[in-house]
Amino acid sequence: MEKKKILIIHTGGTIGMVRTENGYAPKSGAIIKELLQIRDLNSPDMPEWDLIEFEPLLDSTNVRYEQWNSMADTIASYYDKYDGFVVLHGTDTLAYSASALSFMLEGLDKPVVFTGAQIPLCELRSDGRDNLITSIMIAADGIIREVSLCFGDSVLRGNRAIKYSADGMVAFTSPNCSKLADAGITIDYYHSSISEYVKDSLHFGSLNVVRLTESRIAVIKIVPGIQFEIFEPIMCEELDGLVLESFGKGNIPSYDPALSRLISEASRCGTIVVVCTQCPAGTVSLGTYEAGSALVRAGAISGGNMTTEAAITKLTYLLSKGLSKDEIRRLMQNDLRGELTE
Ligand code: ASP
Repeated sequence: MEKKKILIIHTGGTIGMVRTENGYAPKSGAIIKELLQIRDLNSPDMPEWDLIEFEPLLDSTNVRYEQWNSMADTIASYYDKYDGFVVLHGTDTLAYSASALSFMLEGLDKPVVFTGAQIPLCELRSDGRDNLITSIMIAADGIIREVSLCFGDSVLRGNRAIKYSADGMVAFTSPNCSKLADAGITIDYYHSSISEYVKDSLHFGSLNVVRLTESRIAVIKIVPGIQFEIFEPIMCEELDGLVLESFGKGNIPSYDPALSRLISEASRCGTIVVVCTQCPAGTVSLGTYEAGSALVRAGAISGGNMTTEAAITKLTYLLSKGLSKDEIRRLMQNDLRGELTE
């Protein structure tokens, strides 16, 4: 049987960083030396792999929509040549990038697996080695033909994942969506989670990249005693989108009428206001409490059980497609790539 071919796309992040006098930083050309020393990666049982390195390599805190465009363009350029793709990425914004790519890669029908590490490959006890080997195997198996995230023993849907540990080796979780696979002694795929969603490719036919444009999206986390007027200056300028991280099921304090006034004004100006919950698990249900109903009256829409990461990147994607505001509001509440439970 012909060997599967996997393209590793190195964008930066701890996995390939080296020590510098100012702390860990990415270094061009450093990772290939590490990869060539990993025996498993060069075993005849492994799929064939090639490496592409971004220039410049980034600490993922600096990743923006331009890098998402480069990632999507790279996958599209090599789409026919490889059976799957592994994206090496810093963990800090990995869940945002995996979410963004899940929307941008319309019609994706091959695995795109994001991974990284908490400890660089050049250090003792690096988790990067196992994360990379498992990701390559998952990409080669071709069972999860969507954007996923492989870290520690978990394989998660990319647009459902959140980084929940700053220092643990199992750094990601997806509280609102079952794992797609467990990478224990064997790799066990959970077919019902994978096939739960209509394959995007059936819908689009072939791969189509939607490149992102810069959009003005703000996130406000609701806290007790929040003074809404502080946000008035930003909300009165033209914002394309606003994600509110509410309490619980979509609740905001009602002591201050300023928020509903601001949201009504923002909605009237065309800002899409999406309400997500600051709870890692569960669903927003606007209108359950009086304290949340004001948001609906003011024109906000529910983000359901989407993560903030998915809501921001989905909004960016829909705005980049140049759709009407009504269409964006409708699609934000529909499941496009398994990012929310309708
Ligand atoms: N700051 C790093 C990054 O996100 C952290 C990591 O990779 O774990 O690039």
